[in-house]
Amino acid sequence: MNQKCDVVIVGGGLAGYVAANYVARTNLSVVILEKGKFVGGRARTTKIEQQYFNLGPHALYKKGKARSILEELRITLPGKPTKSGGILIENNIEFPAPFSALNLFKTNLLNWKERIEWMTVLLKIVRVNTEPLEGKTFHQWAGEITHSPKVKLLLYTLGRLATYSHTPEKMDAKVMVSHLKIALKGVLYLDGGWQTIIDQLHNKAVLSGVQVQPQTPVRQIELLSDGSFQLVTPHNEKILAKNVIWTAGPQELESMFLDKGNCFSNKMTAIKGATLDVALSQLPNPEKLFAMDLTNPLYYSVHSTYAHLSDNKNNIILHVFKYHHPEEHHDSTLDKHSLEQFLEKLQPGWEKYVITKRFLPHITVNQRLPELGDAKKLLRLKSTIPHLYVAGDWASPDYILSEGAVSSGKQAAEELIIKEKRDESANQ
Ligand SMILES: Cc1cc2nc3c(=O)[nH]c(=O)nc-3n(C[C@H](O)[C@H](O)[C@H](O)COP(=O)(O)OP(=O)(O)OC[C@H]3O[C@@H](n4cnc5c(N)ncnc54)[C@H](O)[C@@H]3O)c2cc1C
Repeated sequence: MNQKCDVVIVGGGLAGYVAANYVARTNLSVVILEKGKFVGGRARTTKIEQQYFNLGPHALYKKGKARSILEELRITLPGKPTKSGGILIENNIEFPAPFSALNLFKTNLLNWKERIEWMTVLLKIVRVNTEPLEGKTFHQWAGEITHSPKVKLLLYTLGRLATYSHTPEKMDAKVMVSHLKIALKGVLYLDGGWQTIIDQLHNKAVLSGVQVQPQTPVRQIELLSDGSFQLVTPHNEKILAKNVIWTAGPQELESMFLDKGNCFSNKMTAIKGATLDVALSQLPNPEKLFAMDLTNPLYYSVHSTYAHLSDNKNNIILHVFKYHHPEEHHDSTLDKHSLEQFLEKLQPGWEKYVITKRFLPHITVNQRLPELGDAKKLLRLKSTIPHLYVAGDWASPDYILSEGAVSSGKQAAEELIIKEKRDESANQ
């Protein structure tokens, strides 16, 4: 069966749906092709018994671009902002995390000189202009703003929390500091999980005429002589489209256009981690709601403190996460053990209260670890094939995670609409 449309969007995740909702404001016909049985990509929430599990811990930046774009699309974002605080663990000793003014005063993690230095670093993050940071790694920038090893360790931990990147020596300082600036303004945990966003984006897109085809992986894209595309699925279904918005991964895109010499993704590394998602009938230690380890890259947070994530309001939903370094070998059994041990330290006897749990050892959090020089690579890619637009959490030079996915989805749609209008007036 052959189809024809103005725009094919490959991938039904956040980026694809945001792009679809903007393009649907025009009279262009739009089809979303999604490989999975369910739409939503990594923003999907799985309902297990009565519990809503995001794919690992998901927090939406309160003052980020994603939230403002989603609100512009009239997506409601029910949930609550988290309180800053919690604990940091160093060599098995727990300290109040100096992420709030009260904790900064209370904590023994830092001596007085370090407290002042940490405050100065936080103020620098808030005030710094990120443009001149281009060309520096986060490690280099951290070395310029503090000489204190403890303050640097704290900065790397906050950086991990904001971006999931455990690689300061590779991470682009501009991207990291841009995210730190937004992260310091707080995050929201969403009621019902991130599926809430996907369901609304999906319904609005379908109501505007977008056709959504799950279980339709794109296996091949051919560039036709008139500049349009023919997309082929494994069942040999052929779809002709004037424009393609690609929101799946960079490696896959490259494999579709290898013969065009577009070698842009071979040096792109993903940000990955291991997640233990847990539902408990009660919390052994209700005081402990958030923790990070300073020396081991571990995270823990009770998301149901702020969001409704179970049909039973007494149930507790929490996430424990290990940030992977891309160059280290990761043993799933050991990772699972270290996540469980970390939880045991914070919530002794938790296993007695387990309703359900899920361990994902090697999940892609972001499809690109932002490294120096990526912006140029992305720019080159965007200008290579007319009518091919890219979006997704890897496709924005300055933002990653949902910030990158949502903003690049909107940008791809806007660029496409402008080009279509230009072509239309040129043909009149
Ligand atoms: C553990 C974890 C924690 C996270 N925490 C946060 C957080 O706290 N804050 C935050 O902002 N972000 C967070 N994220 C990141 C966020 O979930 C992603 O950045 C975002 O969902 C990516 O959206 P996307 O549309 O770019 O990609 P995806 O969601 O991956 O969507 C791409 C879609 O394309 C489909 N696809 C792939 N190949 C093909 C093909 N050939 N044909 C058709 N379809 C195809 C895929 O099935 C997928 O549905 C987290 C992610 C994870 C995994």
